[in-house]
Amino acid sequence: MLKVKRKYFDRGETRKLKEIKAVVIHWPAGRVTNIEALWKWMNKSSQNSYHFLVSKEKIIQTRHTDYRAIHCGHRTYRKKAKDFFGYDVCSSKDSPNNYTIGVCMLHDNENGSYDRGTINNAIELLAVLCIDNNLSPETDMLRHSDITNEKSTPCPKAFFEDDDDPDDLWKSFKFWVAAEITKIYKDIGMTENLEQKYDNIDKEK
Ligand SMILES: [Zn+2]
Repeated sequence: MLKVKRKYFDRGETRKLKEIKAVVIHWPAGRVTNIEALWKWMNKSSQNSYHFLVSKEKIIQTRHTDYRAIHCGHRTYRKKAKDFFGYDVCSSKDSPNNYTIGVCMLHDNENGSYDRGTINNAIELLAVLCIDNNLSPETDMLRHSDITNEKSTPCPKAFFEDDDDPDDLWKSFKFWVAAEITKIYKDIGMTENLEQKYDNIDKEK
Protein backbone atom coordinates (compact mmCIF):
# COMPACT_ATOMS: atom_id res chain seq x y z
CA MET A 1 0.00 0.00 0.00
CA LEU A 2 1.28 3.38 -0.97
CA LYS A 3 1.71 5.49 2.15
CA VAL A 4 1.09 9.16 1.65
CA LYS A 5 1.05 11.62 4.51
CA ARG A 6 -1.44 14.40 3.83
CA LYS A 7 -0.26 17.77 5.02
CA TYR A 8 -1.52 20.59 2.82
CA PHE A 9 0.23 23.92 2.51
CA ASP A 10 -1.59 26.61 4.48
CA ARG A 11 -1.97 28.82 1.42
CA GLY A 12 -4.99 27.34 -0.27
CA GLU A 13 -5.33 27.37 -4.05
CA THR A 14 -8.93 27.86 -5.04
CA ARG A 15 -8.53 27.41 -8.78
CA LYS A 16 -9.20 23.91 -9.97
CA LEU A 17 -7.09 22.07 -12.51
CA LYS A 18 -8.80 22.24 -15.90
CA GLU A 19 -7.67 18.74 -16.83
CA ILE A 20 -4.79 16.45 -15.87
CA LYS A 21 -2.58 15.89 -18.92
CA ALA A 22 0.76 15.15 -17.28
CA VAL A 23 2.75 14.77 -14.11
CA VAL A 24 5.74 17.12 -13.91
CA ILE A 25 8.75 16.09 -11.85
CA HIS A 26 11.04 18.52 -10.03
CA TRP A 27 13.87 18.70 -7.55
CA PRO A 28 14.22 21.46 -4.92
CA ALA A 29 17.40 22.75 -6.59
CA GLY A 30 19.82 22.22 -3.76
CA ARG A 31 17.89 24.19 -1.19
CA VAL A 32 16.88 21.53 1.28
CA THR A 33 17.42 17.79 1.49
CA ASN A 34 15.09 17.19 4.46
CA ILE A 35 11.45 16.72 3.53
CA GLU A 36 9.92 18.30 6.64
CA ALA A 37 12.26 21.28 6.38
CA LEU A 38 11.35 21.68 2.72
CA TRP A 39 7.65 21.55 3.57
CA LYS A 40 8.10 24.25 6.22
CA TRP A 41 10.19 26.47 3.97
CA MET A 42 7.77 26.17 1.07
CA ASN A 43 4.76 26.69 3.27
CA LYS A 44 6.19 29.88 4.73
CA SER A 45 8.38 31.43 2.08
CA SER A 46 7.82 30.06 -1.39
CA GLN A 47 5.56 31.30 -4.17
CA ASN A 48 5.79 27.87 -5.72
CA SER A 49 3.98 24.74 -4.70
CA TYR A 50 3.75 21.09 -5.71
CA HIS A 51 1.13 18.45 -5.08
CA PHE A 52 3.60 15.97 -3.63
CA LEU A 53 7.03 15.94 -1.98
CA VAL A 54 8.92 12.65 -2.13
CA SER A 55 11.96 11.61 -0.10
CA LYS A 56 13.51 8.28 0.79
CA GLU A 57 11.55 8.30 4.06
CA LYS A 58 8.12 9.36 2.94
CA ILE A 59 5.70 11.03 0.57
CA ILE A 60 3.84 14.16 1.65
CA GLN A 61 0.80 15.35 -0.28
CA THR A 62 0.86 19.13 -0.02
CA ARG A 63 -2.01 20.05 -2.31
CA HIS A 64 -5.30 18.41 -3.28
CA THR A 65 -5.04 16.96 -6.79
CA ASP A 66 -8.24 18.69 -7.90
CA TYR A 67 -6.51 22.03 -7.44
CA ARG A 68 -3.65 23.80 -9.17
CA ALA A 69 -0.13 24.01 -7.84
CA ILE A 70 2.33 26.65 -9.02
CA HIS A 71 5.32 24.78 -10.42
CA CYS A 72 5.75 24.97 -14.18
CA GLY A 73 4.39 28.28 -15.49
CA HIS A 74 6.92 30.35 -17.45
CA ARG A 75 7.23 33.24 -19.88
CA THR A 76 8.73 31.08 -22.58
CA TYR A 77 8.34 27.39 -23.30
CA ARG A 78 10.19 24.73 -25.22
CA LYS A 79 8.71 23.61 -28.52
CA LYS A 80 8.29 20.17 -26.97
CA ALA A 81 5.95 21.67 -24.34
CA LYS A 82 4.01 23.69 -26.93
CA ASP A 83 3.49 20.55 -28.97
CA PHE A 84 2.39 18.63 -25.90
CA PHE A 85 0.07 21.14 -24.21
CA GLY A 86 -0.82 23.29 -27.22
CA TYR A 87 0.36 26.80 -28.08
CA ASP A 88 -2.58 28.45 -26.31
CA VAL A 89 -1.75 26.70 -23.04
CA CYS A 90 1.90 27.77 -23.34
CA SER A 91 0.99 31.45 -23.49
CA SER A 92 0.02 34.27 -21.17
CA LYS A 93 -3.63 33.25 -21.58
CA ASP A 94 -3.20 29.90 -19.85
CA SER A 95 -0.50 27.79 -18.21
CA PRO A 96 0.69 24.17 -17.96
CA ASN A 97 0.00 24.66 -14.22
CA ASN A 98 -3.68 24.22 -15.13
CA TYR A 99 -3.05 20.75 -16.58
CA THR A 100 -0.39 19.10 -14.45
CA ILE A 101 0.33 17.46 -11.13
CA GLY A 102 3.63 18.62 -9.64
CA VAL A 103 5.86 16.11 -7.87
CA CYS A 104 9.10 17.23 -6.20
CA MET A 105 11.67 14.48 -5.61
CA LEU A 106 14.20 15.47 -2.97
CA HIS A 107 17.82 14.79 -3.84
CA ASP A 108 20.29 13.33 -1.42
CA ASN A 109 23.32 15.54 -1.80
CA GLU A 110 24.70 18.60 -3.60
CA ASN A 111 25.17 16.64 -6.82
CA GLY A 112 21.43 16.26 -7.00
CA SER A 113 21.58 12.48 -7.05
CA TYR A 114 18.74 10.35 -5.75
CA ASP A 115 18.74 7.74 -3.03
CA ARG A 116 17.23 4.44 -4.22
CA GLY A 117 14.56 4.84 -1.51
CA THR A 118 13.44 8.15 -3.04
CA ILE A 119 13.31 6.56 -6.49
CA ASN A 120 11.26 3.65 -5.15
CA ASN A 121 8.77 5.91 -3.37
CA ALA A 122 8.43 8.03 -6.51
CA ILE A 123 7.88 4.94 -8.69
CA GLU A 124 4.99 3.85 -6.48
CA LEU A 125 3.45 7.30 -6.41
CA LEU A 126 3.84 7.93 -10.14
CA ALA A 127 2.38 4.53 -11.02
CA VAL A 128 -0.74 5.28 -9.01
CA LEU A 129 -1.03 8.81 -10.41
CA CYS A 130 -0.68 7.47 -13.96
CA ILE A 131 -3.36 4.81 -13.42
CA ASP A 132 -5.65 7.21 -11.63
CA ASN A 133 -5.41 9.87 -14.33
CA ASN A 134 -5.06 7.61 -17.35
CA LEU A 135 -1.54 8.81 -18.13
CA SER A 136 1.29 6.99 -19.87
CA PRO A 137 4.69 6.96 -18.10
CA GLU A 138 6.39 7.13 -21.48
CA THR A 139 4.64 10.21 -22.82
CA ASP A 140 2.83 11.92 -19.94
CA MET A 141 5.53 12.09 -17.28
CA LEU A 142 7.58 15.21 -17.94
CA ARG A 143 10.64 16.68 -16.32
CA HIS A 144 10.25 20.34 -15.43
CA SER A 145 13.03 21.28 -17.85
CA ASP A 146 11.18 19.53 -20.68
CA ILE A 147 8.75 22.45 -20.39
CA THR A 148 10.75 25.57 -19.75
CA ASN A 149 13.22 27.44 -21.89
CA GLU A 150 15.12 28.86 -18.95
CA LYS A 151 18.78 28.04 -19.05
CA SER A 152 19.46 27.38 -15.38
CA THR A 153 20.40 23.97 -13.98
CA PRO A 154 18.02 21.38 -15.40
CA CYS A 155 15.22 20.27 -13.10
CA PRO A 156 15.45 17.64 -11.77
CA LYS A 157 19.21 17.51 -12.21
CA ALA A 158 19.65 13.75 -11.85
CA PHE A 159 17.15 13.09 -14.64
CA PHE A 160 19.17 15.12 -17.15
CA GLU A 161 22.43 13.26 -17.00
CA ASP A 162 22.67 11.86 -20.49
CA ASP A 163 19.63 11.68 -22.73
CA ASP A 164 21.68 9.78 -25.35
CA ASP A 165 22.59 6.99 -22.96
CA PRO A 166 20.15 4.05 -23.17
CA ASP A 167 20.78 3.41 -19.46
CA ASP A 168 20.07 7.01 -18.60
CA LEU A 169 18.30 7.29 -15.21
CA TRP A 170 15.28 9.14 -16.63
CA LYS A 171 14.68 6.47 -19.27
CA SER A 172 15.06 3.77 -16.61
CA PHE A 173 12.72 5.63 -14.27
CA LYS A 174 9.95 5.72 -16.88
CA PHE A 175 10.47 2.03 -17.50
CA TRP A 176 10.27 1.25 -13.75
CA VAL A 177 7.02 3.21 -13.40
CA ALA A 178 5.54 1.30 -16.36
CA ALA A 179 6.64 -1.99 -14.75
CA GLU A 180 5.02 -0.96 -11.46
CA ILE A 181 1.75 -0.23 -13.29
CA THR A 182 1.85 -3.71 -14.83
CA LYS A 183 2.53 -5.17 -11.38
CA ILE A 184 -0.38 -3.30 -9.80
CA TYR A 185 -2.78 -4.54 -12.47
CA LYS A 186 -1.49 -8.07 -12.07
CA ASP A 187 -1.76 -7.94 -8.27
CA ILE A 188 -5.23 -6.54 -7.98
CA GLY A 189 -6.97 -7.05 -11.29
CA MET A 190 -7.85 -4.36 -13.75
CA THR A 191 -10.09 -2.22 -11.58
CA GLU A 192 -11.10 -4.17 -8.55
CA ASN A 193 -9.76 -2.87 -5.27
CA LEU A 194 -7.60 -0.36 -7.02
CA GLU A 195 -8.77 2.22 -4.52
CA GLN A 196 -6.97 0.37 -1.76
CA LYS A 197 -3.73 1.13 -3.48
CA TYR A 198 -4.16 4.86 -3.37
CA ASP A 199 -6.33 5.08 -0.37
CA ASN A 200 -4.39 7.99 1.06
CA ILE A 201 -4.38 10.17 -2.02
CA ASP A 202 -7.23 12.59 -1.94
CA LYS A 203 -10.09 12.05 -4.27
CA GLU A 204 -12.69 14.27 -2.69
CA LYS A 205 -12.45 17.63 -1.04
ZN1 LIG B 1 11.34 22.32 -11.21
